[in-house]
Amino acid sequence: MIEPFDAVDLIKAKRDGDTLSTPQLDWLVDAYTRGVVGDEQMAAWAMAVYLRGMESREIRDLTLAMIASGERMNYRGLSKPTVDKHSTGGVGDKITLPLAPLVAVFGVAVPQLSGRGLGHTGGTLDKLESIPGWRAALTNEEFHAQLESVGAVIAAAGSGLAPADRKLYALRDTTGTVECIPLIASSIMSKKIAEGTASLVLDVKFGSGAFLPDPEMGRRLAETMVQLGKDAGVATVALQTNMQTPLGHAIGNGNEVRESVEVLAGGGPADVVELTLALAREMLDLAGKPDADPAAALADGRAMDVWRRMIVAQDGDPDAPLPQAPESETVVAERAGVLVAQPALPYGIAAWRLGAGRARKEDPVSHSAGIDLHVKIGETVEQGQPLFTMRTEDPARFGRAREALDGAWTIADPGTPVQDGGPLVRDVIR
Ligand code: URA
Repeated sequence: MIEPFDAVDLIKAKRDGDTLSTPQLDWLVDAYTRGVVGDEQMAAWAMAVYLRGMESREIRDLTLAMIASGERMNYRGLSKPTVDKHSTGGVGDKITLPLAPLVAVFGVAVPQLSGRGLGHTGGTLDKLESIPGWRAALTNEEFHAQLESVGAVIAAAGSGLAPADRKLYALRDTTGTVECIPLIASSIMSKKIAEGTASLVLDVKFGSGAFLPDPEMGRRLAETMVQLGKDAGVATVALQTNMQTPLGHAIGNGNEVRESVEVLAGGGPADVVELTLALAREMLDLAGKPDADPAAALADGRAMDVWRRMIVAQDGDPDAPLPQAPESETVVAERAGVLVAQPALPYGIAAWRLGAGRARKEDPVSHSAGIDLHVKIGETVEQGQPLFTMRTEDPARFGRAREALDGAWTIADPGTPVQDGGPLVRDVIR
């Protein structure tokens, strides 16, 4: 086959600040997927994009080209509307677990294809795999059947969905080109659009534990993704939410499942409940159910019923005990006062070092490792009161986790400003 373009020309064009045409971007993505454009060339191009940016039209073309690199699912024949949610990731972000069954209570299908955690942000599949027997890999037939019967499905994205993004994301991860709005937006939206959902709610984080901590950058990312969704015919809304401090009390895998079940039982930490309900309301609105009352479905057990059916449908045992770590270490308050700073990132890194996360894609995770916070930001503590407990299977990991947590909390006199990043939901972008 005679290639219509030369990769070096396209790299130089982007390097020099030019825009690439639709045929050029189509070819680049296709040729990279075929292996005609090499990793080193794609890395150079990604760095040029990182430095020079992309116009909206280019971002849209890149997204469409990555969708076209694989299969595009659809739910024709399904009797329910579909709506999904995607979070840009954070520390203690277990919201998908209570959210998917909660939304499904109202006759809406939630086709959630998830990934595994990389770095300090946890992965939904890693959390669910703490449940004995639970299976992330479903065939397309199983996925569709469960959407119809239960409504909520959280499963592993197959390799056929946006394979160009899979390859490019792995490359970006090792070449310092992750934190780039055009590349992040096209990466996330290519997968979500290929997944076939009719509508989508994005949870775009800002603050210490977000991978774009700056709220203004987060906002630009949210706007870019909402526009990409709309252009592709997917009704898309983004909530910009606060990840300055960890969400809830649990950071890890099994402990996050436990906390999610508390929310489904009508309890749980106030911030987890608030965000779950805010996202549920947006999802139900997009799915044509503006009058649904998700708070009632948490309180009266309907969401829990769907959760149990969702877990059983994937061979999990919702009543089985969750894994317990054999080793723990508790850190206590060095003085009395108010906890005025508790930035999320060090806790995410520490939980990862305790074994809850992976450094490489192939690594296993520990389902019992993690951190349980006993005190949240803004709360009053006595001297000697437990602040948090670290748990691990391997006590040799405590040292590095403690290092990550050096300076990760501040206890001050009452009246000292609390560094909590402001309200949980900062903005809604439609
Ligand atoms: N998540 C993705 O799927 N892609 C990115 O580029 C960043 C986060």
